[in-house]
Amino acid sequence: MEENVNPHSRPADLKITDMRVANLRGAPFRATIIRIDTNQGISGYGEVRDGGSPTYALMLKSRLLGENPCNVDKLFRKIKQFGHHARQAGGVCGVEMALMDLAGKAYSVPAYQLAGGKFRDRVLCYCDTPTRRDGREMGQLLKERMARGFKFLKMDVGIGLLRGIEDALIAPPGMLESNGIMHPFTGIQITNKGIDILCEYVAQVREVIGYEVPLAVDHFGHIGVESCIRLGKALDQFSLAWYEDMIPWQLADQWQRLAEAVDTPVCTGEDIYLKENFLPLFERRAIAVAHPDLASSGGILETKKIGDLAQDYGIAMALHMAMSPVAALASVHCAAATENFMVLENHSVDQLEQWSSLVEGLPVPLIEDGHIAVPEGPGLGFSGLNEEVLRSFADPDQPEIFGPTEEWDDERPHDRLWS
Ligand SMILES: [Mg+2]
Repeated sequence: MEENVNPHSRPADLKITDMRVANLRGAPFRATIIRIDTNQGISGYGEVRDGGSPTYALMLKSRLLGENPCNVDKLFRKIKQFGHHARQAGGVCGVEMALMDLAGKAYSVPAYQLAGGKFRDRVLCYCDTPTRRDGREMGQLLKERMARGFKFLKMDVGIGLLRGIEDALIAPPGMLESNGIMHPFTGIQITNKGIDILCEYVAQVREVIGYEVPLAVDHFGHIGVESCIRLGKALDQFSLAWYEDMIPWQLADQWQRLAEAVDTPVCTGEDIYLKENFLPLFERRAIAVAHPDLASSGGILETKKIGDLAQDYGIAMALHMAMSPVAALASVHCAAATENFMVLENHSVDQLEQWSSLVEGLPVPLIEDGHIAVPEGPGLGFSGLNEEVLRSFADPDQPEIFGPTEEWDDERPHDRLWS
């Protein structure tokens, strides 16, 4: 071990000295890259969940300064109380990625090795695909993805496709325009006509792409569980890979009802923080596929634990991901190190070259033949960020790249949760 240690680093004396951020837009959404610096000249990178806030990471800075970043689990336990579901976990998870990057660099091992070694050399990716209102056109778009090497696909099939079609939806006034009201409370229902139209849409897609490639479906719209069951039963004939987020993840009893009613795997998890919050779904066998996003679920080590826990219940794990190559590579290391892994999402297929060029030292494009090769370099496996590409993605509202953040150095509240 000793001769593998980075000669420029003395891991036992490594200390965190700074945390800085770069806010991105369009890679593919709005997100924040964080950089954690040390007293030995090595830096680690992580990423705050898309749609989150740099504050979620910066508020942790004072709790991390002076700590040894190689103590990943200890520091994760120190800061995890400042995470919550969905975007609010972004700071804690981004820091965990950066700590895994730093610990890997300090000991000259890939992050997957810190998580126990790898089960695979390549990680299968599935691609999200923008919606076309015409089923045949949608099928053609998916077929182009297949021609580019993708072996697992996802599309949206939801009430959005029924807008403006008479008698396809029933809704109380204003509800179709709402987006902040949870599914059981909107009163929106789908009619038999609406179900027939969506079945015809999926039939047209299947006619073009055939049945050999798994095709998952997402974004059904804010309809109640009863409408989900009726639609799900009608769509079962198309053997889809999974129905994703048909209802909010919090409603474990309704998920159980849904899972028992349809014959297609049902899937949720992209907004769940920490493994214990997957348990209500696992214990009820209320989902067939757990779908954590490691920028919300707790980072690389916690998400491996989620995969292991799901495995004990006979539940598969796929990974949600809609961020830059930094979070994508953190996901790749987690996927490599977790036996229970099916497929990793990617949202940047239509800008793959530029997206891939954000990190240096790895193939461009990063996805080849529908897979990302597990990097063998230390930490997350890339040698640095390409400054020019980073600037091309800079958020015009907060364009500063890794500027000083001293205002976050001295926050010292009493953080203990018990007396
Ligand atoms: Mg989704």
